[in-house]
Amino acid sequence: MLFCDVIVDLSLEKLDKTFQYRVPNHLENVVQEGCSVVIPFGNGGRTLNGFVLSLSKEPKIEISRIKDIIEVRDDQITIESQMIRLAAWIKRNYGSTMNLALKTVLPIKTKEKAKQEKEVHLLLSDAEAREQRNLMLKKTKPSKYKLRLLELLMEQRIISWDVISKEQEIPTSYIREFEKLGWVEIQLKRAYRNPVKEMERMDKSHPLNEEQSRAVTQILKNHAKNIEKTYLLYGVTGSGKTEVYMHLIQKMLEEGKETIVLIPEIALTRQTVMRFYQRFGDVVSIMNSRMTPGERYDQFERAKKGDCKIMVGPRSALFTPFQNLGMIIIDEEHENSYKSEQAPKYHARSVAVERARMANASVVLGSATPSVESYAKAMEGEYELLRLTKRVEERPLPECDVVDLRAELKSGNRTIFSRRLTELMQDRLAKGEQIMLFLNRRGMLGTISCRACGEVIKCPHCDVPMSLHRNQKLICHYCGHTIVMPKTCPSCNSPYIGGFRMGTEKVEDSVQKLFPGVKTLRMDADTTKGKEGHAKILEKFENREADILIGTQMIVKGHDFSNVTLVGILAADMSLNANDYRGAERTFQLLTQAAGRAGRGDKPGNVVIQTYQPEHFSIKAAAKQDYEEFYAHEIIYRKMLRYPPCAHMLMILVTSPKEEVAGAQAKEIEKLIKDRRERIFCSSAEPASIAKIQDVYRYVVYLKDAEYDRLVEIKDQIENYLLNSNRYSNAMVWFDFDPMSSF
Ligand code: ADP
Ligand code: ZN
Ligand code: ZN
Repeated sequence: MLFCDVIVDLSLEKLDKTFQYRVPNHLENVVQEGCSVVIPFGNGGRTLNGFVLSLSKEPKIEISRIKDIIEVRDDQITIESQMIRLAAWIKRNYGSTMNLALKTVLPIKTKEKAKQEKEVHLLLSDAEAREQRNLMLKKTKPSKYKLRLLELLMEQRIISWDVISKEQEIPTSYIREFEKLGWVEIQLKRAYRNPVKEMERMDKSHPLNEEQSRAVTQILKNHAKNIEKTYLLYGVTGSGKTEVYMHLIQKMLEEGKETIVLIPEIALTRQTVMRFYQRFGDVVSIMNSRMTPGERYDQFERAKKGDCKIMVGPRSALFTPFQNLGMIIIDEEHENSYKSEQAPKYHARSVAVERARMANASVVLGSATPSVESYAKAMEGEYELLRLTKRVEERPLPECDVVDLRAELKSGNRTIFSRRLTELMQDRLAKGEQIMLFLNRRGMLGTISCRACGEVIKCPHCDVPMSLHRNQKLICHYCGHTIVMPKTCPSCNSPYIGGFRMGTEKVEDSVQKLFPGVKTLRMDADTTKGKEGHAKILEKFENREADILIGTQMIVKGHDFSNVTLVGILAADMSLNANDYRGAERTFQLLTQAAGRAGRGDKPGNVVIQTYQPEHFSIKAAAKQDYEEFYAHEIIYRKMLRYPPCAHMLMILVTSPKEEVAGAQAKEIEKLIKDRRERIFCSSAEPASIAKIQDVYRYVVYLKDAEYDRLVEIKDQIENYLLNSNRYSNAMVWFDFDPMSSF
């Protein structure tokens, strides 16, 4: 006998509330997860519509009390059933509860009423505002508040009341004064407000060049024949990928279809967003992760009602309930942020492909540095590869120098800038062109390296960098091996060894010493704390308020500054030393993307890569912006060590406030897997590299196998076992398939 759990109300607070029904024999082959059914409800002969969440063979209550489903409403393939099916797919492939999976795909309806925020709108034209500003400046003692308020309004035209009074600390009496003068109007923020209404639309569509139109034509030719595929649009930096997306979206609009555009959160800058608004106006909607659940719900409602046709946003925008989805575009598809860090730990790329399959839509993955996974799929023919090999308008790729830092030190240069970089900086400053300095710090926390030979101190047993702890101890997180921090480099005896402490502030100081008075901007975790901190810095740099922008990985993402003609990459190899198998891939991506920032305008650019490992293939390939060369090396390494995409990994994390419990539960899981007696790689249960977070202990067991489905089967087995055993009730078990972060 077959039973199913039915939910009658999808508003979120009640997601746990399901009712069990029996599936009558004649419907057994029809009922599936997500389908919409009619059920008897209560004793008054009432019927309701509901959705099937899951199927099972076990009755939860006495069989005689379980009623039958009345019918399956197969005439309606609603967006809700599609999203429930997607949730079930996510649950199956990534491991989580159905409840969590549903919360991931369905918008959260909150009771909380969106609070009515006030906004201040500037009514003066730009020219009038400028005139008033000049008048103010002519006064002997202009009010600094008035001046700031006017300048802010000139910059943004619409500002929230709270930003003015709280963030900017301008007394609200000045806003009222402006209101009396008729300069501004105070409005309640409209529900579903769409910022584009206040903006003029400028259509800056470019005619496509030959490579761009070949890509567009190929996709649309298939589309016209009803062939929907996944495409990998591999185009070098500045080759005009966004323009290709725009043409495809335009086509979807003409057909009355909707498009989802995923962009990494960090690249969701004003600049990118504006490009979409300016092209498509009102039908664009934007999401970001700072939105409240209520705001997100509003956006999804708009989408469902057909008020918007294009949703631009990070990972979660993938679940926009478009009824007539035509295409999903994932820009910068190689980005780590497309993998969810919370259960269910899904990858947006795979879920996009599945959603598109359900909706008969196509997927376009775009990148200048495709993930090894995607490129491998393109090589195998699972994705179709489309290439843009040239920058638009035949602009040259930047010229790139690789500088060996060991040689610099030997020749007596102890500053952080090589002679080549210093010389080029001098040149650009003299010409009034801008510079970006990129500090690659990824994966360097606590590791010790030698400035003379570049050697990183690694564990003799595990070949991963050791980390510096208190009392000058170096510890290996994989095996626990501990040594005392040496005084000199174990490989060359140089005394110049130490932790990599260089931060963006240090770089800024060094710039000032070298070029006193030069204007710099810093972009790092500190300076971008405020709500719009990130965008503000970029805007200032774009307005040429500084000559040099210094930053961490944040600065490499998709920005387009036409006046930047030099990019300096300090410590290029740092990400190579991160303790996970993606080190070379991350390095290649970061360097190529950073280098790609140079020379995007009509002036050609230069890049200087400073490194201790000039011979490393990922650095050599990045200097040439040669993805194929990088891939050819990398895939051999992945095959040899059986890392994704050549095999799949499943990381099982066990957490508990009691260390013995976490350890014992992890051991039991290890035994369960080893008892299967399969030829499958299974590590022993060990403490995770971060062994404790907020007093919760963490143990991991990790598996590797060529077959993803076999790992899913093992996950199911463990889930089942956990369901039926409560020996370690205060341990939690988490699954992570093909993890993107180290563990
Ligand atoms: P990518 O996303 O590949 O880095 P973009 O789409 O940002 O490249 O394009 C880089 C710049 O070139 C943008 O300023 C864009 O407006 C411009 N551009 C794109 N396509 C064309 C074209 N066919 N002709 C002229 N300029 C173009
Ligand atoms: Zn070790
Ligand atoms: Zn050394």
